[in-house]
Amino acid sequence: TSALVWFRRDLRCFDHAALYQALRFADRVYCAFVFDTDILNALPERRDRRVEFIHASLGELDGALHALSLAAGGQGSGILVRHGRAVDCIVQLARNLGVSQVFTNRDYEPAAIERDRQVAARLAANGIALADFKDQVIFERGEVLTQSGKPFSVFTPYRNAWLKKLDDFQLQPYPIAKYAARLAPKPLGEVLPALSSIGFEATDLAMLPLPTGMRGGKQLFKDFCTRMEGYRQARDFPARKGVSYLSVHLRFGTVSVRELAAHAHRRGGEGAATWLSELIWRDFYHMILWHHPHVAEHAFRPDHEHIVWDDAPELFAAWCEARTGYPLVDAAMRQLHQTGYMHNRLRMVVASFLTKSLGIDWHLGERHFARHLNDYDLAANNGGWQWAASTGCDAQPWFRIFNPVTQSRNFDPQGRFIRRYLPELARVPDRFIHAPAAMGTADQAAAGVHIGVDYPAPVVDHTRARQRTLMRFSFATAKN
Ligand code: FAD
Repeated sequence: TSALVWFRRDLRCFDHAALYQALRFADRVYCAFVFDTDILNALPERRDRRVEFIHASLGELDGALHALSLAAGGQGSGILVRHGRAVDCIVQLARNLGVSQVFTNRDYEPAAIERDRQVAARLAANGIALADFKDQVIFERGEVLTQSGKPFSVFTPYRNAWLKKLDDFQLQPYPIAKYAARLAPKPLGEVLPALSSIGFEATDLAMLPLPTGMRGGKQLFKDFCTRMEGYRQARDFPARKGVSYLSVHLRFGTVSVRELAAHAHRRGGEGAATWLSELIWRDFYHMILWHHPHVAEHAFRPDHEHIVWDDAPELFAAWCEARTGYPLVDAAMRQLHQTGYMHNRLRMVVASFLTKSLGIDWHLGERHFARHLNDYDLAANNGGWQWAASTGCDAQPWFRIFNPVTQSRNFDPQGRFIRRYLPELARVPDRFIHAPAAMGTADQAAAGVHIGVDYPAPVVDHTRARQRTLMRFSFATAKN
């Protein structure tokens, strides 16, 4: 029997559920990836770091599958790459290769669920089955429920139930190498298409500290293991190297979440436990999206659908273009555009600033992040935005409004992060770095910054903005 493994957000060939199941089931196993035009055509630009990250990771995966097969006594293998609509490409490949089953790892996004439903139906019409497996999370869908059998909507009890349910079985890796001789050789003429032949151009990815593929994921994880102990203390300070930077690898499955969670769980200690909690947040938001797919478009809480946001295109442009006059917000937005990454503390700060200081609809910010984040993930991004906007499950209470200057003083006390991304403020003294507009003309001259010329004055007065937000929310919630 032959089988086909359809890779999507799981670009690795170790500890891989669908690949393992296929190798157990069939004696000839093909591997494939589709550059799905339904996804690619919707991207606004032809230079996209994520497409390049996938492309580079596929190159590595191709060679790794080949080496795995040879090492197990097989005839070599690799990945078959197509460019087109997934539903057409997978059905055509499965038919041409004569497989009886297609294996894949489950995706929980509404559009992916619909795509998979269509693929399954088209395959079934050809007498081919589609089998899907849990792989990208530790616990999925209805696996962790409240005592009354309902999905959780609050994180802490979810985390407690998650930890209680965790056992060695969940964390066990799928042994691939043992069966790798069953990987089928690639048909003649199968080569990885160039980035340009799928309509994309190279980006600055190679210049960023973001190594691609399984090797890149391993390298970042190894580095983080030397720092994991201090994660709890360091993780909130964007100027410090406190976090793992593994989000892109988790997004594209070049690391195994089981391996990461198993390491943190077995290691124990405060840093590892806090980091494991972050992985649980990831499961939590995937679970929320699966049970409540309406969150992809709407507020989680129906009563918060009635919030009337401001229509303020100029303020939105200032936020996007790092011109708000609040240095921490502007530095964070520059980090996003220059690297495709933004530190978690800063994601919270800029999301709160957009929704509660500028009064702008969170959907706009969510879309901006979706366009620019290398690690963009619908479940986590939507969860993060709805948390900050107070429209989500277990969200920040609406009357808690981050003060961007206080956040800056607390989490970037010497302005090291600010100065890294806003070199125009490099010479501003520490006491003004969080609010440079407070400098008098003599201080501005000494620092070489003329407020309003070299760096903008604040686009809103935070105290007034805060009052408006409190009114906006009390009005919206009182209506219900
Ligand atoms: P670490 O601190 O090292 O955390 C390890 C991993 O845990 C992360 O890689 C991520 O997979 C997971 N994780 C951490 N925090 C969260 C969280 N709050 N929710 C879900 N998973 C989490 N994360 C994304 O992966 N993609 C997104 O599109 C995304 N958008 C966000 C938008 C907003 C407004 C906010 C507030 C948060 C968002 N996050 C998103 C969550 C978080 O900011 C990033 O996962 C984190 O900054 C990635 O850096 P890291 O890998 O160094 O994180």
